[in-house]
Amino acid sequence: MLVVSVERSVSSHRGVPLSARVFRRVHERCGKVSGMTYVPGVQEPRAWQAWRATRSAGRIGVAGLAWTAAGAGVTAALTHAVPSVATLRRLRTRVMPVLAGVGAPDHVALTFDDGPDPASTPLFLDVLAELDLRATFFVLGTMLERAPHLAERMVDAGHELAVHAWDHRSMLLRGPRSTYRQLHRTRELITTVTGRQPRFVRPPHGILSAGFLLAARSLDLTPVLWTAWGRDWTSTATPLTVLDTLMPDLRGGGTVLLHDCDCTSAPQAWRSALGALPELAARCHDLGVRVGPLAEHGLRAPRAKNMIALPSVLQPVAAPGFSATRECHVGGYRE
Ligand SMILES: [Zn+2]
Repeated sequence: MLVVSVERSVSSHRGVPLSARVFRRVHERCGKVSGMTYVPGVQEPRAWQAWRATRSAGRIGVAGLAWTAAGAGVTAALTHAVPSVATLRRLRTRVMPVLAGVGAPDHVALTFDDGPDPASTPLFLDVLAELDLRATFFVLGTMLERAPHLAERMVDAGHELAVHAWDHRSMLLRGPRSTYRQLHRTRELITTVTGRQPRFVRPPHGILSAGFLLAARSLDLTPVLWTAWGRDWTSTATPLTVLDTLMPDLRGGGTVLLHDCDCTSAPQAWRSALGALPELAARCHDLGVRVGPLAEHGLRAPRAKNMIALPSVLQPVAAPGFSATRECHVGGYRE
């Protein structure tokens, strides 16, 4: 049995004290789906102790970054079976911060891909409501078409919908017309179902193409990837592995990628992301950062039209209040 104590680290959210009853409810809910059991006061498992030691010892060195990036790349290639620009995550955070999702230094954008799925997304909405968090959901048109009622529930709860694609096939395998149709059809469905036109787009697997950027520009969509992920799509992912993977890259201004659906992941893999949410919220509180959707992330929009020309692609564009070389007061990026 996996035992996780969160009572000590999670005592309030947004400055509002949260009762033990709320935490117990959230963790009981997560326990049903993730194997985590809420036991107040029990000592943290070794994984958390190790993570804390890593954080208190400061940032890992260049060699560590290289190994981490290499490991992430190998995992992405093995699990998604396609190359991914996710392997360049740290590089793009530095040279293309808006594309990477670097926003206001006192805010973390929480994003979910691949839904909505009636089997899993409602549980995410329940837990997010318990934690008083709102997020951005990058939806697949094929999934949204089957569950439009979930989109209505998301909007009612203050969440944001964004375009992933109509299906999950890589943009590199599509021509320009097919790519445009993927984004346009999904954007129109979101607009029809929610009454709101989406602002953001994230390609499947995080793989960009010229056709994708052109289509995004034509459709007035801003491409946003992520700065931290939980590798929650694998068959071996657990809430603790998700947190251990996320935490080294979690800081103000970042964008977190998780999945609320297993339609492109290992079966039931979403349970690991769901189980990680309460502690993720706690860590963001510890960092003194707000958590919310991309719409509130303070991204300064160079929309896709500014990413077409190569000089613009490589031009650092920092969000307001953010410097890629200056550590912000809440510990923003300084890679
Ligand atoms: Zn996806």
